[in-house]
Amino acid sequence: MTTATVTLKTTNQAMPLVGLGTWKIPQSETAKVVENSIQNGYRLLDCACDYGNEVEVGKGIKAAIDTGVVKREDIFVTSKLWNTFHAREHVRPALERTLKDLDLEYLDLYLIHFPISLKYVDFETRYPPEWLYNPESDKLPTYADISIRETWEAMEELVDAGLVKNIGVANFNCSLIMDLLKYARIKPAVNQVEIHPYLAQDVLVEFCQRKDIAITAYSSFGSISYLSLFDGAKSIPSLLEDETIVKIAKKHSKTAAQVLLRWSLERQIAVIPKSGNEERLRQNIDLDFTLSKEDMDEIKKLDKGIRFNNPGAYFDCPIFG
Ligand code: NAD
Repeated sequence: MTTATVTLKTTNQAMPLVGLGTWKIPQSETAKVVENSIQNGYRLLDCACDYGNEVEVGKGIKAAIDTGVVKREDIFVTSKLWNTFHAREHVRPALERTLKDLDLEYLDLYLIHFPISLKYVDFETRYPPEWLYNPESDKLPTYADISIRETWEAMEELVDAGLVKNIGVANFNCSLIMDLLKYARIKPAVNQVEIHPYLAQDVLVEFCQRKDIAITAYSSFGSISYLSLFDGAKSIPSLLEDETIVKIAKKHSKTAAQVLLRWSLERQIAVIPKSGNEERLRQNIDLDFTLSKEDMDEIKKLDKGIRFNNPGAYFDCPIFG
């Protein structure tokens, strides 16, 4: 079982390099999956308002704590500020709702989910608010004129208030981070972005690590989570069946999934694979093997710049250029 961590330079807190992703775990299964994951050694849970299952994640955490497997301080809980809560006055209420749902007093890490601010939707109207202001009639999101600076300053106040230990960003590119670093009183601890061998993001990874910002990779297995979201994902071969990955997996007597996760760990990048299946949960944290330089060089050749989580493709919101 992999217990490796990366030290977050802002607070010196250790963040586990392997965690459980909770996007798309159905509410009915979430509490059990979270409890099982903790029993199987997971110590990081990656959550978000947008995933619509934070109440159930909270129940899973509580069950694990009640059975004595862990104490609150043994686990690292991440959540994310949704796009509709970017205004200064909405950031703290959004975090407080997440804390209430998770039944926690503090988060270890709170991320700005996307560098996109959308028109506010109040808690009574719809929660999670999702992308469209009027889901019945709108085809595109309604944007709000709120700068990242305003949102970041409100995030910093959450640290001051002791409600979150670390703050960070997700889906930020180098130039957004360069700008943020000019005024940040508290530096971002983490940038969480899509990374897999078809989208290696070498420049972004190198830049963030040089600036002491840890990287978390999401969607380590590539297209799989996006097959039901857009047709284009179906035309991209599965990374889990990629010839090179499968060959390297056989050589190490591991699965393709384990090679994809280990590839990130070799780059000091944290991973948050999602699975509700107990065998896969165990597999995804069993990553104590090493990929050789030759393995890494071969995997490097697979980089095709293919991005699956792209609001530009879904919503005419081209944040990645
Ligand atoms: P993932 O790459 O973890 O893939 C999940 C899929 O892979 C599931 O369908 C699962 O059944 C399958 N799977 C899991 N383990 C497997 C194994 N060992 N062998 C074969 N198949 C396996 O995808 P993801 O959910 O997109 O990303 C992981 C997490 O990252 C999410 O749950 C979420 O927490 C986070 N995330 C964040 C953002 C963001 O914008 N910040 C975006 C997407 C995901």
